Amino acid sequence: MKYEAVIGLEVHAQVMTKTKIFCGCSTVFGSEPNSQVCPICLGLPGVLPVLNRDVVELGIRLGIATHCKIASYSRFARKNYFYPDLPKGYQVSMFELPLTEHGFIEILIDKQNAGDSKKIGLTRIHMEEDAGKNVHDGIESGSLVDLNRAGMPLLEIVSEPEISSGDEAVAYLKALRAILIYTGVSDADMEKGNFRCDANISIRPEGSKKLGTRAEIKNMNSFRFVQKAIAYEMIRQEEILEEGGRVVQETRLWDEKKGMTFPMRSKEQAHDYRYFPEPDLVPLNIDEAWISKVKAELPELPDAKRKRFVEQYQIPAYDAAILTSTQALADFFEAAVSKYSKAKLVSNWVMGDLMRELNQDNKGIEDALVKPQQLAALLSLIEKGTISGKIAKTVFETMMRTGKNPEEIVKEEGLTQVSDEGALAKLVDGVIEANPKEVEGYRAGKKKLMGFFVGKVMKKSGGKANPGKVNALLKEKLEPK
Ligand code: ADP
Ligand code: MG
Ligand code: ZN
Repeated sequence: MKYEAVIGLEVHAQVMTKTKIFCGCSTVFGSEPNSQVCPICLGLPGVLPVLNRDVVELGIRLGIATHCKIASYSRFARKNYFYPDLPKGYQVSMFELPLTEHGFIEILIDKQNAGDSKKIGLTRIHMEEDAGKNVHDGIESGSLVDLNRAGMPLLEIVSEPEISSGDEAVAYLKALRAILIYTGVSDADMEKGNFRCDANISIRPEGSKKLGTRAEIKNMNSFRFVQKAIAYEMIRQEEILEEGGRVVQETRLWDEKKGMTFPMRSKEQAHDYRYFPEPDLVPLNIDEAWISKVKAELPELPDAKRKRFVEQYQIPAYDAAILTSTQALADFFEAAVSKYSKAKLVSNWVMGDLMRELNQDNKGIEDALVKPQQLAALLSLIEKGTISGKIAKTVFETMMRTGKNPEEIVKEEGLTQVSDEGALAKLVDGVIEANPKEVEGYRAGKKKLMGFFVGKVMKKSGGKANPGKVNALLKEKLEPK
């Protein structure tokens, strides 16, 4: 039987605020263990939480950016469970009345194909507090608990089970991450754990409408892991069904070293958590005025930007998707195009040479020594014929290394293209004289030898000869009228 995958993703994104969600403790990353704690986030008795307004506002911002409906009335709930990193014995989250619901994220399915897209529904986005961290590594006996992370503000973004493959899952995660970064809601730094994903995966006979039993793979912080875990689960579940067995609903973990998932615990149900309304926090009333204000402050979002790039600059959807993957890259591209208007050429250089070098050094566009106007200047030098396209590549490498202007590099290194007829004629004559056999062959009809001559002249000129002119001169001299 042929099966298809059904995937729903739950993402936890840490919200970029100065302080935690219910207390004044700092959210700075990487401090001494238990140095950012207070009676509230330690869960000591007799204290009351105070909701951080910025978390709500950023939650609203993300809700609007993902086409959700912002609830005019929502409230926090206690999710009860016991674990050493959870000092209160419950997590303050939202349950039956979340902050926002019913949105979607649009993903490109085939970037080559001028923008085929699919909308993945969002069930809900709600606010909650993070738990602390149990530390097991490097400790001789027992474990330690670091509560710096307890009470950090999170937004949980829950998708509908509408994702059909590992590729779609990754496209969804990338799109969501871009929105988080564009809107300033989260830095979505995956290495710091500020963007983590639980993947719910089930399979069903192709074409069937009924959902299969799912496994939930917890807490992955890499696109690659998500993709591999999904691929693994599809095969694992298919084998079970093919052998006549039943998939058990359970929580599993991805083991990167072994390249497989393994069971962690049987899946808990909502009632296991004994959710009830949080009595220490008043329900939230969000009015239209607040929503409108947040809406008005939203920047242009990745989707809109991508579509605008295609229209305004007449570049392929594929280019536009890459160029708008971060705000900084999009800004770089637009700044360069404002100085050199052949957008496709600019795009080629940005996506090619520039990104290749940055990726090699594991750097972002923010770290590039080359500024947009310098890239534009380089392209103008090619267009004016001052340097060849080939020389431009080496000039660009120097620009990336030194941050110098292209004009300066061309001058210092004497890279100006030689277009002077007299000088070129000398080189051409030299090559013709030194290769009588090839000249004879050419004149006897082996026209393909033209490439050989051009190559020789270019080499003699150190790559600086104007190839068009060299061609013309060679023709003239090899084919005397
Ligand atoms: P929880 O994991 O908190 O118990 P939910 O029922 O809200 O609760 O589901 C969480 C995620 O699991 C959602 O992203 C949803 O789309 C996804 N999901 C639910 N059922 C399935 C299924 N049968 N196959 C794949 N994903 C599913
Ligand atoms: Mg879940
Ligand atoms: Zn605190």
